[in-house]
Amino acid sequence: MLPVVPRTARRSRKMLACAALLAVQFAADPAAAQSSDWSDADLATAAALRDRALKGSSAFDHVSSLVTEVGPRPAGSAGDEAAVRWAMNRLGKLGFSAVRSQDVLVPRWIRGSAEVILLGPSPQPLVAAALGGSIGTGEEGIESQVIEVASLDALGTLPAGAVKDKIVFINERMERLRDGAGYSKTVKNRTKGASIAANLGAAALVIRSVGTSDDRFAHTGRIQYDLSAPRIPAFAIANPDADALSRQLKASKQVRLRLKSTARELPSTWSANVIGEIPGTERANEIVLLAAHLDSWDLGQGAVDDGAGVAIVVEAARLISKLERKPARTLRVVLFANEEFGVSGGQEYARLIGDELGRHVIAMEADSGVGPVWRLDSQVAPAALGSLETMRKIMPLTVEAGDNAASGGTDIGPIRDLGVPILDPMFDMTTYFDVHHTLNDTLAKVDAKVLDQTVAAYAVAAYLAATKQGDFGRLAPVPLNR
Ligand code: ZN
Ligand code: ZN
Repeated sequence: MLPVVPRTARRSRKMLACAALLAVQFAADPAAAQSSDWSDADLATAAALRDRALKGSSAFDHVSSLVTEVGPRPAGSAGDEAAVRWAMNRLGKLGFSAVRSQDVLVPRWIRGSAEVILLGPSPQPLVAAALGGSIGTGEEGIESQVIEVASLDALGTLPAGAVKDKIVFINERMERLRDGAGYSKTVKNRTKGASIAANLGAAALVIRSVGTSDDRFAHTGRIQYDLSAPRIPAFAIANPDADALSRQLKASKQVRLRLKSTARELPSTWSANVIGEIPGTERANEIVLLAAHLDSWDLGQGAVDDGAGVAIVVEAARLISKLERKPARTLRVVLFANEEFGVSGGQEYARLIGDELGRHVIAMEADSGVGPVWRLDSQVAPAALGSLETMRKIMPLTVEAGDNAASGGTDIGPIRDLGVPILDPMFDMTTYFDVHHTLNDTLAKVDAKVLDQTVAAYAVAAYLAATKQGDFGRLAPVPLNR
């Protein structure tokens, strides 16, 4: 057992000065890599696995099948139920072992219709979406003056009464960056904006979409209402519509909006995590966990978020199952329920993990789009970092060394907090947030060749994690109610 890693704050994402195009550059002869963690045969098998995936994998077929046979699958919907059936069938047909479901109670929210109309000075409808979990406006809707603020912080500095009974408009643009860091900076407008505005007496919230596209697509995503604040309706408007609203506000102080939404909650219902395994050989009781989430938002097809992730982890494991030289540890694929609307599946998996916790050697998730992978982040014991260098060099394209403070994916967060180490291959997210949580998240945005590169990277990481001589240490558990 390697030493415990001190828990760090959230990952510090680095902005790279140079975002040069990735050149196809395969790793040097893996047999030349000096490692006490793997035999030469293990390393050669990992390189052959990479090349096999790059020749053309079945990942695109998996995501195509999911979005064609199921489509959108918000938690608790008929689509969600169909997705669970699809996953059970697909994993069974692909030859996974111990295919099973794990029941998960999920909240249920119905979007209904959403209408945001700019009443003047120049009247026009705006492209809008209700934020996930928002209450509706009632039949009568809400009509009021708009107060624009540049950020959530700016909202907090307004004088008392400034937004009373008004509609708050947070007009902060998300920055387009390769590592997606613009998202974590602006997503709080969506998650926390409604309750902060409500505590100041606002009637409703409208935000500039947390997304990078200049096309007219509004980006939905979950609100986290503060229990101590009144609940007010909340909407996102598309970037060009936020520009239009802001231009009118510059010309006139008396801009008014009319809002209407029929969004509503229904009672919680049942969904399920779907689990399948590729059994290990001499250390079959040890688990390398590969995660993605099966649910999606309702607006698009959920092809990119997270159909692509489902396809990546399923295909990486399937390719490994076809190898003659099987890994020592068991690969466990978990397709989690309801990531989008409260991480229900990830929390339930951690709650039920019991004695299996210590047998989870490492976890990795695919939930950042299609790829390609360009950096390998992690949160493992420092003594295991050398082995990640070997892993990185066998991955396809040029994968840079990352930091060791990764948070990993949302679904594996609860088991990371119990001490399970994390591998976090970073995807190129330059265009991911153009389609994220929009009507435009469709199969047309999934490039099969790029997907194959990501599958190759995951297959190499999963195979080497499952054949490594030592483990990756344990993380210091995070106390509850931190
Ligand atoms: Zn996702
Ligand atoms: Zn999402």
